[in-house]
Amino acid sequence: MAKQQSGNDDDKGITVKKEDDMAEWYGQVVTKSEIADYSPVRGCMIIRPLGYAVWEKIQQEFNKVLKNKGVKNAYFPLFIPESFFRKEAEHAEGFAPEVAWIENKDEGGERLAVRPTSETIMYDSYSRWIRSWRDLPVLINQWANVCRWETSDCKIFLRSREFLWQEGHNVFETEDECEKDVWNWINEYKKLAESLLAVPMIVGKKTEKEKFAGAVYTTTIEGFMPDGKSLQCGTSHHLGQGFAKSFSISFLGKDEKMHTPWQDSWGFSTRLIGAMIMMHGDNKGLVLPPKVAQNRIVIVPILFKDTKKKVLDACHSLLKELKEHDPVLDDREEYSAGWKFSEWELKGVPLRIELGPKDLEKKQAVLVRRDTGDKIVIKLPDVRKRAKEVLDSIQEDLLHKAKRFMDESIVRVTDWDAFMSATGLSAKKLVLAPFCGEEECEDWIKDKTKGVTARAIKDDEKMDKGARCIHCGKDARFWVYFARAY
Ligand SMILES: [Zn+2]
Repeated sequence: MAKQQSGNDDDKGITVKKEDDMAEWYGQVVTKSEIADYSPVRGCMIIRPLGYAVWEKIQQEFNKVLKNKGVKNAYFPLFIPESFFRKEAEHAEGFAPEVAWIENKDEGGERLAVRPTSETIMYDSYSRWIRSWRDLPVLINQWANVCRWETSDCKIFLRSREFLWQEGHNVFETEDECEKDVWNWINEYKKLAESLLAVPMIVGKKTEKEKFAGAVYTTTIEGFMPDGKSLQCGTSHHLGQGFAKSFSISFLGKDEKMHTPWQDSWGFSTRLIGAMIMMHGDNKGLVLPPKVAQNRIVIVPILFKDTKKKVLDACHSLLKELKEHDPVLDDREEYSAGWKFSEWELKGVPLRIELGPKDLEKKQAVLVRRDTGDKIVIKLPDVRKRAKEVLDSIQEDLLHKAKRFMDESIVRVTDWDAFMSATGLSAKKLVLAPFCGEEECEDWIKDKTKGVTARAIKDDEKMDKGARCIHCGKDARFWVYFARAY
């Protein structure tokens, strides 16, 4: 039975340690912090206002990036005729297991797919919109929900049957422009994840086995989570001319001849929120980086009968002074200050300001950092300046700490025994190894390690001549990051 909320409610806090059982810890943090909730439909999620505010911050920031690059937002339908899917064979095959179908009596009885991604429906329109080189480039993004029906082992934000994302779909005259665009977006994703969510990312190409169905190649950003698993947080695909040919997209060039354009598509999703929760959360609950927190500051007054009015007046002037950080004042009288501290810690508010009658006498307040628990006594006239400084340093420190963790998790191995132990369940390592790049070899690796996959190719380092693949011993083509993944 649900207990009444009270000052000593044992169920309210997180009852399992992150280091002991991360899966259970994650579930508790998500629901108890009220960032999201389970849905009555299995595998779907309810994003609560605290979580949706994070998504809105991400959207605001990324919309600026889109605008700078001349990309416009649009919206395409949720339902896609089955015949569209059949047009690009590899794409259709790759997505077949995940598509939810709707039987449809209209339109000649053709089934409709609930979009798992929108290439096919958008490119049908593109084939009618693009006529000449003057129509290029086409630069369009949509913010939407997508459905991946056959997803098993659902986890809120990390893996669900329905999630929110953005998908950009650009079209260019030349392959050169297109490839530059592919890498531009994956690097923008890295910047966004690091600067906003303070989650460091590795950038690289996917192997042939892991690339997007229908792409020439796929680039990815991968985060490495504290439980030792890699989390793919965004991808940008070079689609070449495959979709353009399947969907009859062509344009009259400056040379008065018909040409096939080059396309890319790129997306990140609400999974980023999951990465942020896992990376920064602790045994008290959520830790929100200030840049995505709905409220950066909570003010908790220490209330006594005689001094209540004075203290509350001072808190209200703090509220005004700190307006730019969307502060909340928790002046509820039915809860103790200690109970409130725990609740706001659970919700991850980056900075707490405590103010009591003794503080007021000394013209000071106490700032408490959510990430470290450090207490900082400040003079009231300095509150505005100091609060901003502390929030900035929380944002920076979260990223530094996460970067240090990622750097320390990477191990380089060149022989199979070392690879097997480094990829072991308890090792929790992101393993760099020389690899031949062949799909069959990757299948064997996954099989023998019970689940380890190639996460990204390390592009900024050339392979030594004579280096051997970690598994099959053939010539190695590149260094690859291997790990278990969500
Ligand atoms: Zn090999």
